[in-house]
Amino acid sequence: METESPFKDIIDEIKELGGDAVKFCYQCGKCDTVCPWNKVTTFSMRKLIREATFGIPEVELEEVWRCTTCGKCSKECPRDVKQIDDVIAIRRMAMGYGVSNALLKPVRSASASLAAEGNPFVQERSKRADWAEGLNVKTFTEEMEVLYFPCCYVSYDKRLREIAQATASILNKAGVDFGILGTKENCCGESIRKTGNEDVFKSLARENIKTFIDNGVKKILVSSPHCYHTFKNEYPEFKANFEVVHTSEYLFELINEGRLQINKEYAKKVAYHDPCYLGRHNGIYDEPRGVLKKIPGLELSEMIESRENSLCCGMGGGRIWIDTKMSERFSNLRIEEAIGLGAEVLATSCPYCIDALEGSRSGLNHEDVIQVKDITEIIQEVI
Ligand code: SF4
Ligand code: SF4
Repeated sequence: METESPFKDIIDEIKELGGDAVKFCYQCGKCDTVCPWNKVTTFSMRKLIREATFGIPEVELEEVWRCTTCGKCSKECPRDVKQIDDVIAIRRMAMGYGVSNALLKPVRSASASLAAEGNPFVQERSKRADWAEGLNVKTFTEEMEVLYFPCCYVSYDKRLREIAQATASILNKAGVDFGILGTKENCCGESIRKTGNEDVFKSLARENIKTFIDNGVKKILVSSPHCYHTFKNEYPEFKANFEVVHTSEYLFELINEGRLQINKEYAKKVAYHDPCYLGRHNGIYDEPRGVLKKIPGLELSEMIESRENSLCCGMGGGRIWIDTKMSERFSNLRIEEAIGLGAEVLATSCPYCIDALEGSRSGLNHEDVIQVKDITEIIQEVI
């Protein structure tokens, strides 16, 4: 006779919310050996999966909200347990139960702001294109070559706006016919989806898709690997397929086609940090390196954990909104590693990574030792 779990309803709910693959786990623990959390504290995805299998995940605990969805464990798992889908399923269930604690307060605030203003910062929608003032950036029209879609962080954050401004200057210099949708843009919804707020994600996605179609968008250039991932891999769930290109790919193309000329040297030692959502999740490793290698004088070095083994910055999976203790930030390890390699600049191609790495650079008092730059910012300096 089959024994029925007393928590069968919860097991069924996790399954319905996308976590069916928990049942394949045989508790080998490989996920825990590669998880970046175990470099700074203790965390067990294996245990979380075990609890989900028995229908007893403790949804109020921080453990449920730790995973940054970096994808490192998924690459190692011998049973294809799909840890990211599983953890999102558990979070969806927690959000459905209305779990509310101090940890999740900023996530709730981001979620409300996304629903009201299309950005997570409680900032007015009308200010979304302020970053472009004085830069000769046009409103997108159908006949243009490409739509430039800077993410919320790149549109509103004072430091990260420099990425959008560098991108616009480069595109103008290369003669690219591009435009933005400004106040008509909404957050792509990637991070809020990872926190389990599926309804908010769907509403943002539908609005963006409608705006893109109404405005005749075919090709979208993005600064953020999180937008890249969502537009390319998740919007097709809504039968919407756009050509999506990340700035690292586009710059590489512009340089190779001779549309963008590099005229100056950059005589610095540079290490490159692979963002999880550009690298592991989407396989873009060579283009950002290719861009940096085109710059005369630039000495490129590889991080110890690079390409598919790259160490997460800590900001994915909605952790961008959750405060991480200074002693537990993966980005601290990244900054120390780059300094250990003798790098004067730690370059990357993701606004979330820049935010985390800048936080560690200042938190560790290394502002005079190393700079953190997006590759667009480096290119802007040499053209
Ligand atoms: S690596 Fe896969 S099979 Fe092994 S414990 Fe983790 S989830 Fe389970
Ligand atoms: S996806 Fe990354 S952060 Fe999440 S459990 Fe796996 S290794 Fe850890």
